[in-house]
Amino acid sequence: MDDLNAPRICHIDMDSYFVSTEILRYPDLKGVAAVVGGGSRHQPRLMPDGTRQYARLKDYVGRGVVTTATYEARALGVFSGMGLMKSAKLAPEAVLLPTDFQRYKHYSALFKNAVRTIASTIQDVGIDEIYVDLNGIPGDVLAIARSIKHAVTDATGGLTCSVGIAHSKLVAKIASDLQKPNGLTVVPMSAIPDIIWPLAVSKVNGIGPKASAKLNALGIMTIGELAKADPALLQEAFGRTYSEWLLRAAHGVDRRPVTTERESKSMSRETTFDRDLHPKGDRGRLGEIFTDLCIRVSEDLKRKGYVGRTVGIKLRFQDFQTVTRDYSLPELTDDALVIRRAATECLKRIKLNQRIRLLGVKVSALERSDSTKLQLFRQADLFE
Ligand SMILES: [Mg+2]
Repeated sequence: MDDLNAPRICHIDMDSYFVSTEILRYPDLKGVAAVVGGGSRHQPRLMPDGTRQYARLKDYVGRGVVTTATYEARALGVFSGMGLMKSAKLAPEAVLLPTDFQRYKHYSALFKNAVRTIASTIQDVGIDEIYVDLNGIPGDVLAIARSIKHAVTDATGGLTCSVGIAHSKLVAKIASDLQKPNGLTVVPMSAIPDIIWPLAVSKVNGIGPKASAKLNALGIMTIGELAKADPALLQEAFGRTYSEWLLRAAHGVDRRPVTTERESKSMSRETTFDRDLHPKGDRGRLGEIFTDLCIRVSEDLKRKGYVGRTVGIKLRFQDFQTVTRDYSLPELTDDALVIRRAATECLKRIKLNQRIRLLGVKVSALERSDSTKLQLFRQADLFE
């Protein structure tokens, strides 16, 4: 019999995604320390005897970073985001593979379509991860999750994923990371103190390196310590909005629904600058533009009769690298000040180390502002 209270929100994350898709075509690298990174240089060379010769990390010169590392490379201390030259010191003989985004997009579509054959409420959150709402699909969640995993491996010709299942997206995302690779982890509400609370605060999506460091400085290392922290102390350190979110997050409370693209309405404003602006040198100008964008989004929302729960920002740097961050509010809003505050929280989570070409502000997870649901949302969101 189905347990109606069983958790049914899934987070599915492909295992060491880029490098795993490379190993599908270079099966001789199975079980080998290897990384993907450094652009499209370093193509493997086919030798006359039919074997392939790969570049090694020690051959690399430049400023590229590791995009993904195999578990064998991780065992040597090499992780994604690490500079390739730095990682060469730890694993000089590790294989270096070029990046092939076309291939990763192709396999991404295969993986997502495979999940769609089983579940239809899917939220795309990245090239290698999605949320899935299993509500409405009959059957035991573990059995459904296993069939999803099989479908993904089948459709991709051998890639594996890790699945986390919980009552909320926030906990499901933490859970998918607990038994990688090829994991399947269910965390019911009642298990949060045992499974989630011992983990470092940085495991929560939305607690970045800066917030983690600040929490650690307050003596708060684990999610459990955060759950039991003094709300006044947190508010003093982080402000009201973020401190309230931190406490809800530590208790696993996150009411964001899994939204398919079709439903997920948003309103945004963005602007490309006449000249690239420097994060420090042009700070004043950037601040003005930032405020102006928030005011314009707020006016759009009010004019069209919407309030939103999630505030996002988009930054494009001089080198065309685009970064987005979002932040979910405890209450729906159309208020420019609230949007500005949330957008600032997003901005704090981006490393500003080069000039900026474009800045955008978006409000999503919209509801009609006249909807009676709004009132219910506000009541339901009182801290539990
Ligand atoms: Mg992944």
